[in-house]
Amino acid sequence: MTDDYITLTIGKQKSIALIAHDGKKHDLINWCQENKDILSMHFLCGTGTTARMITDQTGLPVKGYNSGPLGGDQQIGAKIVEGKIDFIVFFSDPLTAQPHDPDVKALMRIAQVYDIPMAVNKASADFMIHSALMSETYDHDIINFHKNIKERSETL
Ligand code: PGA
Repeated sequence: MTDDYITLTIGKQKSIALIAHDGKKHDLINWCQENKDILSMHFLCGTGTTARMITDQTGLPVKGYNSGPLGGDQQIGAKIVEGKIDFIVFFSDPLTAQPHDPDVKALMRIAQVYDIPMAVNKASADFMIHSALMSETYDHDIINFHKNIKERSETL
């Protein structure tokens, strides 16, 4: 491995972002209820309405950012860049147009850039939450942003 990449570690206790589009909110709340024992071992956050509804209906503590259409997805993306969110469960609705579609795409893109595990439907969330890695540390290689800026500033 060259110094183009740096190794970051996702801890045993993960910081999980929970997001659901309106048509999928009840599915996500049910999924959180089903997986409450596992989720309660991690730090939870989410877009504003999703976070509030999960807390109200399951009792799980979920830190709420702004509502998705008002910038919540972008806030979560920024926290990924800062290394403060390391796992996403996003029940997106593929059958309904979203006013904040560019923000949703941006969040998915930044999750890919930072190699963040992201479940986008119930089946992927089920597979991921029951992975042995949920209770382990996980090393992954991320673009070395200091080197990237240094090189770009010297060559562009
Ligand atoms: P919400 O946002 O939880 O505030 O409804 C979710 C979204 O649509 O991104």
